[in-house]
Amino acid sequence: TDRIRVGIVGYGNLGRGVETSIGLNPDLELVGVFSRRDPLSVETARPETPVFALSELDGLTDAIDVLILCGGSRSDLPVQTPELAAKFTLVDSFDTHAKIPEHFAAVDAAASAGGTVAVISTGWDPGLFSLNRLFGEAILPQGNTYTFWGRGLSQGHSDALRRIPGVAGAVQYTLPSERAIERVRAGENPELTTREQHDRECFVVLEEGADPEAIRETIVTMPDYFEPYNTTVHFISAEELARDHAGMPHGGFVIRSGESSPGVTQTIEYRLALDSNPEFTSSVLVAYARAAARLAASGTTGALTPFDVAPGLLSPKPAEQLRAELL
Ligand code: NDP
Repeated sequence: TDRIRVGIVGYGNLGRGVETSIGLNPDLELVGVFSRRDPLSVETARPETPVFALSELDGLTDAIDVLILCGGSRSDLPVQTPELAAKFTLVDSFDTHAKIPEHFAAVDAAASAGGTVAVISTGWDPGLFSLNRLFGEAILPQGNTYTFWGRGLSQGHSDALRRIPGVAGAVQYTLPSERAIERVRAGENPELTTREQHDRECFVVLEEGADPEAIRETIVTMPDYFEPYNTTVHFISAEELARDHAGMPHGGFVIRSGESSPGVTQTIEYRLALDSNPEFTSSVLVAYARAAARLAASGTTGALTPFDVAPGLLSPKPAEQLRAELL
């Protein structure tokens, strides 16, 4: 077969999402999941998916065209991406924005030496949102770019709530401020403060005997996390938390508003509304894996970002068909 053979490295939320997404792409074939854990302890969504120890990858350079790295950005990818790029073409979703230049340099050195292709920081932010920020700036050099996130579940802020004594469980949603979005859409080009751009909504389950008013005060005054925002706190039951807040929704907007000549306002808007952040991110990773495998087959080497990958390579359709159908 000439299907592209894919390996998944790391099986968490993204790993699971990639496994599902490969099933929707008939030109791709899943070789298996590679985990640092005991393979017998990793339960995949599809029982037929083979699970291997990460160390087994070494012998499989000829059996895999591209790896999709699904580890965490904090401590997994800074180690795994350069290490594996020495031998395999791969993609990752590294999302620590401030460290992308450093990550790129380490991965580029490994991929260039190894003769592989490594597309880093795919996904939606970084990823699709980055592309839309770039389009906005390049097309409307006179103007402002706005990124709004949400409505979305923030893992970091939910963790901060759970660490408060008296809190038994909690989730936090980031919401784009409707008023701010309206001003941007209207072409006002406003300077927005942190407080004006996003709101925070918390759903909290209290431990028995905990004082709701004291906990609300602790939350809304928490420096960095909640103090700089308009924060709403709802107290709910453990049953409601489990029933209504188990998903991982996210999304947001990239808006560029600028003038092409004095008084002539042009606005570009790109929106994502995601029921599942990890499943969507995985779908993006899979499309970039296809592009990475094609680039490697055509002799490209080194690290790339979504800025460097031609969009036609993301599609399973040949260029000729894309010209006829989508241009
Ligand atoms: P997870 O925490 O679910 O998984 C990360 C790794 O942890 C896995 O690869 C897995 O490695 C290990 N792991 C998972 N479950 C368990 C478990 N039960 N016990 C022990 N280890 C486990 O992270 P996500 O998949 O949710 O996200 C990964 C990264 O994706 C995030 O850090 C984020 O930076 C990035 N991301 C990027 C986005 C973008 O738009 N660019 C959007 C969303 C996320 P192993 O199998 O080897 O143990």
